[in-house]
Amino acid sequence: MFEYAPAPESVRPQIKEHYGLFVDGEFADAADGSVFKSVDPSTEEVLFTVAEAGEADVANAVAAARRAHETVWGPMSGAERGKYLFRIARLLQEKAREFAVAESLDNGKPIKETRDFDVPTAAQHFFYHAGWADKLEYAGLGPDPKSLGVVGQVIPWNFPLLMLAWKIAPALACGNTVVLKPAETTPLTALLFAELCQEADLPAGVVNILPGAGATGAALVDAAVDKIAFTGSTAVGRAIAKAVAGSKKKVTLELGGKAANIVFDDAAIDQAVEGIVNGIFFNQGHVCCAGSRLLVQESVADDVLERLKARVSTLRVGDPLDKNTDIGAINSAEQLERITALTETGGAEGAEVWQPACDLPERGFWFRPTVFTGVQQSMRIAREEIFGPVLSVLTFRTPDEAIAKANNTPYGLSAGVWTEKGSKILWAAERLRAGVVWANTFNQFDAASPFGGLKESGYGREGGRQGLEAYLDV
Ligand code: NAP
Ligand code: MG
Repeated sequence: MFEYAPAPESVRPQIKEHYGLFVDGEFADAADGSVFKSVDPSTEEVLFTVAEAGEADVANAVAAARRAHETVWGPMSGAERGKYLFRIARLLQEKAREFAVAESLDNGKPIKETRDFDVPTAAQHFFYHAGWADKLEYAGLGPDPKSLGVVGQVIPWNFPLLMLAWKIAPALACGNTVVLKPAETTPLTALLFAELCQEADLPAGVVNILPGAGATGAALVDAAVDKIAFTGSTAVGRAIAKAVAGSKKKVTLELGGKAANIVFDDAAIDQAVEGIVNGIFFNQGHVCCAGSRLLVQESVADDVLERLKARVSTLRVGDPLDKNTDIGAINSAEQLERITALTETGGAEGAEVWQPACDLPERGFWFRPTVFTGVQQSMRIAREEIFGPVLSVLTFRTPDEAIAKANNTPYGLSAGVWTEKGSKILWAAERLRAGVVWANTFNQFDAASPFGGLKESGYGREGGRQGLEAYLDV
């Protein structure tokens, strides 16, 4: 086998030492002067400091968004709004490399993923929704759809720029203005996006970005907004649903998952192994729709596992800015602790753990790709979302048993099916209780395709014609 030489990314983005809140088109410090730091999780070095928004800042930002909605963005024609969205999309493409490197630095994910997935997919979301801005009355949602007003948006740290795009693009296309809170550990690309909005001459107040922690998010939920759009954990989603109950605020919740990836005995095994690896090790497993439960038919289980372990042994863990890296750093010390604690329960409850031999860097937050075999449905590693590079392998004998096990979860976000029979794919897709079912592939996303969950994975859809409905009064 050939060894890889290091291939570090050479471009460094311009990162300021300090960022303010982005309110009403300008950067400003918090009313009470609070600041926090963002670190590079692969080195634990501080990248920059940033203002932390409190209640007064939230109220200011919502007021700015309200003014912008009433005076500029709401009255503007869809065709004009579309031009701004196209401009944002093109600027994102022009600055793709800078955004990709910044995202890898602040989040810890590999540059090949930010470069080839996060940033292009974010730009695609703006292009796609730019096209809808002047066609909303033809979306089949009602003859005269109206914007809702001001939308409060709270996003997680696993796909910072992409989740921002999923939230902001449809909201603006539908004529709403937004106040968005990025996750505490990954505010950088949202701040670069705020600079991009200035460059695009987006009217002041249409987009407001408020870095902060959970308390900032909670203040935004309580503020005078017309809708809350949230992506994150089921626990916080539940708290938000309670907080807005009885108010006129609309809510969409994109929450956690524990997806089954089902491999039938007639599947193309090498292809399935690639899909299993992509399903759970993409983005360090920090993916809500990750294929974290592998259900493999008993007759091919030994073969699948042998090939899977051989493949996982070739994954390269390390420097996120190396173009050959497959698995980067875990986003934070807290998340590493959560993954470690849940993984320990696997061994304690009797599952067998396997990890490839690979060196990990000395500084930073790292976790080896991990495969558990002999997993029972009652074990915590089969029931709870680990949100890390940890796969639980279960087996089944009949298709009915596969479906029963796959659906035996409080979540319902995604699922995968591997088989050469089209009829089996359709049979399984009909029975799987999941918002999206991938067949002979995994983790495919498109702005035109609605995404969202069933059961405790939340409600509402993002993307596609269906996703517009969440941002319109129809
Ligand atoms: P989280 O704790 O729920 O945080 C998500 C966001 O909510 C963060 O910005 C967070 O701020 C904020 N927040 C925390 N407490 C809040 C409160 N009481 N009120 C309002 N906002 C609050 O989730 P996480 O651990 O960062 O992210 C991982 C989870 O998100 C996983 O469960 C994953 O499945 C889910 N997720 C779902 C999707 C989807 O599309 N369905 C996509 C990605 C992730 P801080 O930054 O300070 O924590
Ligand atoms: Mg960071």
